[in-house]
Amino acid sequence: MVFQAIPAMQNFIRGTPRDQQWMRHAMALAQRAEAAGEVPVGAVIVRDDRLLAEGWNQPIAAHDPTAHAEIMALRAAGLSEANYRLTGTTLYVTLEPCVMCAGAIVHARVARVVYAATDPRAGAAGSVFSLLEDTPLNHQVMVQGGVLAEECSDMLRQFFRVRRKSSGKK
Ligand SMILES: [Zn+2]
Repeated sequence: MVFQAIPAMQNFIRGTPRDQQWMRHAMALAQRAEAAGEVPVGAVIVRDDRLLAEGWNQPIAAHDPTAHAEIMALRAAGLSEANYRLTGTTLYVTLEPCVMCAGAIVHARVARVVYAATDPRAGAAGSVFSLLEDTPLNHQVMVQGGVLAEECSDMLRQFFRVRRKSSGKK
């Protein structure tokens, strides 16, 4: 209730309407991962409110431990821009980036990361590690977490619940 009285605070938690729209786009990609039996995580990279690239989690199908949604999106954006630096871009992802993805995001010089659900076990955007902002690295990334967090964590919880059931519950 208190938050609703403070629009700036509300933006911090929910994101702007554009942030929410791009996050919905990332959620649709996460569903694509889920349909393929992968953990549902999706990502998009945007510059000046224009879509540069999409990615979704696919390590199992690709036999590739690095095939996280963010990495797939960074690779696609690099190709589409013909540039390994993605300055001025915002990366939207449905789950807080891991250590590997945070490293790649810094290498790519992404300006801003917006994520939905936090990852209390492996998150590298503040939960377990903080590799994007306030670091000794020469590139700092603006971070905003919590945009559509509930919907995205529901999607993940639901996925793991179904998977536990179908694997005969260990
Ligand atoms: Zn990752």
